[in-house]
Amino acid sequence: MLLLGPSEDIDKEEDVENPFDKDLGIIGLGPAGLTAALYASRAGLSVVQIGLDYGGQMGLAMEIENYPGYEMISGVDLADKMRTQAEKFGTKIIYGEVSAIEKMEDGKFSIKSDMGDYVVKTLILATGGRHRELGVPGEKEFVGKGVSYCATCDAAFFKEKTVIVVGSGDAAATGTLALADVGAKMIYWISRTDYLKCERIYIERVKKRNNIAILYNKQITEIKGTNTVEEATFNDGSVLKIDGIFAEIGSIPNIELAESLGCEIENGLIKIDDDCKTNVPGVFSAGDVTTKIVNPLMRQITTSVGLGTIAALGAAEYIQGLKTKQY
Ligand SMILES: Cc1cc2nc3c(=O)[nH]c(=O)nc-3n(C[C@H](O)[C@H](O)[C@H](O)COP(=O)(O)OP(=O)(O)OC[C@H]3O[C@@H](n4cnc5c(N)ncnc54)[C@H](O)[C@@H]3O)c2cc1C
Repeated sequence: MLLLGPSEDIDKEEDVENPFDKDLGIIGLGPAGLTAALYASRAGLSVVQIGLDYGGQMGLAMEIENYPGYEMISGVDLADKMRTQAEKFGTKIIYGEVSAIEKMEDGKFSIKSDMGDYVVKTLILATGGRHRELGVPGEKEFVGKGVSYCATCDAAFFKEKTVIVVGSGDAAATGTLALADVGAKMIYWISRTDYLKCERIYIERVKKRNNIAILYNKQITEIKGTNTVEEATFNDGSVLKIDGIFAEIGSIPNIELAESLGCEIENGLIKIDDDCKTNVPGVFSAGDVTTKIVNPLMRQITTSVGLGTIAALGAAEYIQGLKTKQY
């Protein structure tokens, strides 16, 4: 029995007949997907939401200070609040990986996941991004042995150690500060350009720490060590003796499912219109993975939440249209 919100009068008979048959399938458990789930379930849609990591990239943020309504909240806590709210209105949340989605002859979509298969009438792809790799010799060899892609997750292992943080955006900035907070001995914050792209407030905070040095115009060319990371070499020939490297150089959009469905891709992102519709009827998309957020600086929780709202309302309209045969 679903817990219904203000839309208790809306017919959700599919859930009773077949729990694997829903109005809407949302792929992604980040802020875009969780917001879409809240709006769609409140609009009376039966919703299944499938995602691999809880909270998506937001779940990696140790301290969020720019989500309105909270002076400070951790990514995990914010994700937990969003999930609870979506579930309250009936969203079924599944932790699993979606391996394929196919459009069926009747216009519905079949979702194949390692936690079961679902059939849905409409889809929201909120698949966000995954970490970008440095692509240098030694990187793969030392993943988990000094090479990390999440300073906020792994900082605690580097107390009294010397580390490098690579990147110039907000994730690199907050990662650098997280390492300083746990008592890393020395942190070299490396930017490949002569400027930093992060919010100014982070630079002010970094400048107040005496165990952080910002190095500009530097690129790692190789990582070396025996059992764990021991040194990094750079494009200018210099070498730093270190215990760890944090690559915080942005994300790669997860567009593979969209591509396989025939969604148009532009600049490596899922192309959507102002209503978050893709070119494939019945398929909507929201969040970091879309062409609405081309500028990496705008990859934020607030922007994802906004697009999740638009996509959900579009999906609800689509379902209503199916009932009156407008689509
Ligand atoms: C360390 C860090 C700190 C940050 N700090 C802040 C901050 O302080 N403030 C702020 O506003 N923003 C911050 N951001 C950015 C913010 O987290 C992202 O902009 C936001 O999470 C994007 O939301 P999204 O829902 O579009 O995608 P994501 O959060 O990337 O979520 C994507 C979801 O899709 C799922 N997925 C993808 N493919 C599949 C598949 N095949 N099967 C199943 N599931 C799949 C993933 O598992 C995940 O659940 C930070 C990011 C990082 C990495």
